[in-house]
Amino acid sequence: MNIVVGFKIVPDDTLVRASGEKLLLDVPLKISTYDKNAIEEGIELKEKFGGKVVGITVGNNDKKSIREALSMGIDEVISVSSRNLDVYGTAMAIVENIKNLNPDIIIFGEQTVDSGTSGVPGYVSELLNLPYISNVKSLKIEGKKVIADRGMVSYVETVESELPLIISVGGEINTPRIPTVRQIMESSKKPVKEVTFELEPKVKVIETKPLVVNRKKIIIEANMNEAVDKLLEKLKEDGVLWK
Ligand SMILES: Cc1cc2nc3c(=O)[nH]c(=O)nc-3n(C[C@H](O)[C@H](O)[C@H](O)COP(=O)(O)OP(=O)(O)OC[C@H]3O[C@@H](n4cnc5c(N)ncnc54)[C@H](O)[C@@H]3O)c2cc1C
Repeated sequence: MNIVVGFKIVPDDTLVRASGEKLLLDVPLKISTYDKNAIEEGIELKEKFGGKVVGITVGNNDKKSIREALSMGIDEVISVSSRNLDVYGTAMAIVENIKNLNPDIIIFGEQTVDSGTSGVPGYVSELLNLPYISNVKSLKIEGKKVIADRGMVSYVETVESELPLIISVGGEINTPRIPTVRQIMESSKKPVKEVTFELEPKVKVIETKPLVVNRKKIIIEANMNEAVDKLLEKLKEDGVLWK
C-alpha cells in the first residue's frame, strides 16, 4: 500500500504565551498534535498491509521534528521549504510533490494547533479529485473498500468509500507510539528529500493576535435562590442563554 502522511511542524502550543496584544512565538517547534495520530495511522496500515509510508511537511523544516516522524516509522520524508503559502498554496505544494507516488491513502490530521483551518485536506482532495472522509475515529480497509466511523463530539456516522482516498484523523483514532532508542538512531539513515515550492498567496496574513478575554467580574450578593435567578437573568441579557 502506498501511504502518504501530511504533518505540519508548528510552534509548541503549550509554550506559546501572549504579551498584551502580541503572541510570543519564539518557542521550540514540534509536530502538530493530531499529525502524530496521522503518522501512527499510516504506520499501522503499513504494518497490516505492507508497502511504504512517505511523510510530507511544508513550511518549517525543523530537523528534530522530521527525525521524530522518521523514528516513529515513516520511511521517507519530503520536506518542502517555502516562504509564505496560504492554505491553497500549501495544498498545491503537497499535491505537486506526492502525485507521482500514486498514493492509495493520504492521511492528515483533522486540524493543526496553530492556524487550525482544517482546510488543507479538503483542498488536496479537490486538487487530486479523490474522495475525502474527515474526522475519522476508526478505520477498516477490506480490499479496496474503506469503512470509517467519522464525526464530531456529539455524533458518529459510519461511511463507506474506496481506495484511493484521503482521510483526516483526530486524537481518538489511536495512541501515537513513542520511538525506541534504536528507532531514533536508525532514523538518521532514512532519506529526507528537500525541495522548494513557491506560489504567491491569495490570502495575506497581516497580523496574528491572541484572543483576549476580558472578565466582567460581577459579584451577585444575594441568598442562593435569588442569586441563581439573578445570574440566569444576567446571562439571558448578555445573550449567553436564550430568553
Ligand atoms: C512561514 C509561514 C508563512 C505563511 N504565510 C501565509 C500567507 O501569506 N497567507 C496565508 O493565508 N497563510 C499563511 N500561512 C499559514 C499557512 O497557510 C497555513 O499554515 C497552512 O496552509 C496550513 O493551514 P492550517 O494550519 O490551517 O492547516 P489545517 O488545514 O488545519 O491542517 C489539517 C491537516 O493538514 C495537514 N497540513 C496542514 N499544513 C501542513 C503543512 N504545512 N505541511 C504538511 N501537512 C500539513 C496536516 O496533516 C494537518 O493536520 C503561513 C504559514 C507559515 C508557517
